[in-house]
Amino acid sequence: MRHFASPADTRSALFATGVGSASNAIRVCNACRALQPFDARVTFYELFDEKKSFDVKNVVLNVKFKQMQKVLHPDKFATASERERELSSDYSSLVNKAYKVLVDPYERGLYLLCLHGKEVKEDSDIQLTPDFLMEVMEFNEAIADNKVSQETLKTLKVENDTKIEKIIKEISTAFEFTDFDSAKLLLAKLKFYNNAAEKIKEKLQ
Ligand SMILES: [Zn+2]
Repeated sequence: MRHFASPADTRSALFATGVGSASNAIRVCNACRALQPFDARVTFYELFDEKKSFDVKNVVLNVKFKQMQKVLHPDKFATASERERELSSDYSSLVNKAYKVLVDPYERGLYLLCLHGKEVKEDSDIQLTPDFLMEVMEFNEAIADNKVSQETLKTLKVENDTKIEKIIKEISTAFEFTDFDSAKLLLAKLKFYNNAAEKIKEKLQ
């Protein structure tokens, strides 16, 4: 059977079916509305109908994620062909993967660098200053201290969260000015702050 996968301009017609209305990247046949394989070149941004930018809003992503998971839910394909069930499962995995990357500033930054052909190949590509590394080491020692109080941990958390918030703004600016070298450096720093956040979380009761 020949299927006619939907181009973006037929979007309105697809609203009736549910599938396809959630994202232009979810392709359905115009004739029989069966789910069609996705374009392998589709980016996570296209899947979420978002601009290729560092500044995505998590609230917006959440809404779109839930909507796509709803239309791709296995229950909706209980009576569909095996091919369609497989496709819906493939789409669902893709949506999960895309969401995980886009919702996380660090992962999103790395992904965006990749899309610009500036991927970080190895951590050793990036030279962090001894001052920064010293600061991180001392901060991590404070967290790891056996006698650290919950009060101190809370203070460290506020300090670290503030650093994360600040650096995310700086990363956003770097991408805005297509300054990929700065973005790489800032993302490398963000990774350290994220690690510290994890360690604080483990010790905070
Ligand atoms: Zn068809």
